[in-house]
Amino acid sequence: MINKKNRNNFFWIYIAIFIIFLGIFFLKSSFSNPKKINQDIFFNILSKGKIEKIIVKHKEIVHVYLKKNKNKYSNSIDNNISNEKGFIIQQNQLQYEFEIGDLQLFQNKFEKYKKLYNLDTIIDFKNQQDYTITKFFFDYGIFFILLILFWIFLFRRISTTGGGPGGQIFNIGKSKARLFDENDDIKTTFKDVAGLEGAKEEVEEIVEFLKNPNKYTKLGGKIPKGALLIGPPGTGKTLLAKAVAGEAKVPFFSLSGSDFVEMFVGVGASRVRDLFDKAKEKSPCIIFIDEIDAIGRARGKSSIAGSNDERENTLNQLLTEMDGFGTNTNVIVLAATNRSDILDKALLRPGRFDRTIIVDPPELNERKEIFNVHLKKLVLSKNVDIDFLARQTPGFSGADIANVCNESALIAARKNGESIVNKDFLEAIDRIIGGLEKKNKIIKPNERKRIAYHEAGHAIISWLLEHAASLVKVTIIPRGKSLGSAWYLPEERQLTTPEQMKDEICSLLAGRSAEEIAFNSISTGALNDLERVTKQAQSMVAIFGLNEKIGNISYYDSTGQNEFNFSKPYSEKTAQIIDEEISKIITEQYKRAKKILKNNEKKLDMLANELLKKEVLFREDLKKIFGNRPFPDEIEELLKEKNVSVS
Ligand code: ATP
Repeated sequence: MINKKNRNNFFWIYIAIFIIFLGIFFLKSSFSNPKKINQDIFFNILSKGKIEKIIVKHKEIVHVYLKKNKNKYSNSIDNNISNEKGFIIQQNQLQYEFEIGDLQLFQNKFEKYKKLYNLDTIIDFKNQQDYTITKFFFDYGIFFILLILFWIFLFRRISTTGGGPGGQIFNIGKSKARLFDENDDIKTTFKDVAGLEGAKEEVEEIVEFLKNPNKYTKLGGKIPKGALLIGPPGTGKTLLAKAVAGEAKVPFFSLSGSDFVEMFVGVGASRVRDLFDKAKEKSPCIIFIDEIDAIGRARGKSSIAGSNDERENTLNQLLTEMDGFGTNTNVIVLAATNRSDILDKALLRPGRFDRTIIVDPPELNERKEIFNVHLKKLVLSKNVDIDFLARQTPGFSGADIANVCNESALIAARKNGESIVNKDFLEAIDRIIGGLEKKNKIIKPNERKRIAYHEAGHAIISWLLEHAASLVKVTIIPRGKSLGSAWYLPEERQLTTPEQMKDEICSLLAGRSAEEIAFNSISTGALNDLERVTKQAQSMVAIFGLNEKIGNISYYDSTGQNEFNFSKPYSEKTAQIIDEEISKIITEQYKRAKKILKNNEKKLDMLANELLKKEVLFREDLKKIFGNRPFPDEIEELLKEKNVSVS
């Protein structure tokens, strides 16, 4: 392998060679190019007896060869050639050239001079071929050499960035996998991976297979060839693979699916071959391919013929290597993706990826563990309640939680805090969910009032409906793209009933209903609510089979086969019913929200005014107006139990 320092050395060597050749070329041209003179000067030099011979070339050009002498001569002859330096001129060296108008006249004059000055100058009429191979090489070969050197230099640079790790064009087909072995001190272990118990168990077993294969093979079992980690972004798939590398104590090749991809045909397949060859040499070992969907996409789906040939060749090679005739003894392939739906079925079958390990977003307890891992590095105040933080972050991935921890430290530092407190975490969570607070955004008073009513509407309905998500706070401070927002703590359920879905739709439509009640008009401010409501209603009717008219039918396609099929899987008539039913659900819930708000119009005014005054209202403020929530409330119980304030 050529390291960066060596590559720099090569760079300077090439530059030096380039300059030397350039120098030689210019020097040479100043030596050998004949000076143009006129006939008068020629006859002047001739009369002094200094010319050895002349050659009459085609097109009436005469080349003049001087006798071996010190050529200081020219300085005294004519100003035209007075720039000549005092070079030592070799005998027969071509020195001057000039044109003759009429050959006959010139020849006569030349003969006359020869006689007059008794000269031995030779005149040659042979149309001499000056361009011998040697001369050609000297005049043009240098250009070729420079060109070739430049070409090599260019390719070295291209292949340093795009080619193999050796930095040479010949290495372009070599795998770009990074090898971690006993010399690399990988510190990540399974202890750093919080939660993910099932997934951890599976990969721990893979490590065990490699460390102690006999335990499994003596009973006739075969070591799995590969395991595929599937899960949404940030759930810890790469982290798990790093932990495997840290724990396995066997060579570990790590690369990304896109590392196989190159603009040259055949490179992908060649890199796959090279990767497996290297892995076999180092066996037992692990290959980890992150984002395998870059090459593992199902074959033959593209509508443009031939457009995916290179990727398909790469995939075919991978399939062959993983389960071809040649067995890869003790080479286990780990791969990760968040798009398992688009992967080629041949890749997923047992014998290639024998195990599919699902890495789900963390649940409450797992989030707690992930917080524990990331909080270890932070300076915390005593009141930080991890349980409370875990409950505040439903739907967060491991990466989101790591981000919350980091953001809270930054927020605390910005406030010059000694340690990080609960409120810093809550601010960090808000920032991650809603974006940056924009306190200085200019909003007109009438718009501000409309926003206050809109948010108050959301808050009231979610307070008064049994299945709506528990309200945490409501604010009219713009944040990210929103002008105001109501913050909820959604219940973490595994199953959802139509009643729960309808309550959620109703509370989402409450913002627009409140606007209509207060101003007798509606605005564009409900875009995000309407988008969510429409999706929810669509899923009730067409996906979950929760609509009476459509019945127990789902048009959902989990295989993703319909990705390029634009035709709907239902008739026009059904499409019409679906549209009508979606619209019916939304209209019903809108009317419901409006009715509830109308019945509580005074309270709506109070809450909106309170919001305009304070900008942020918490559960306590709502309690003052509405009294306790009439239903069991998860967040209420948590707050009581933990004695924590979110304000
Ligand atoms: P992607 O699919 O986008 O590549 P990923 O699933 O590979 O995402 P990782 O890169 O493994 O996600 O996770 C990103 C970061 O999130 C990790 O470096 C780690 O800090 C944190 N993280 C994720 N899951 C966990 C976990 N279970 N325990 C501790 N930290 C975690």
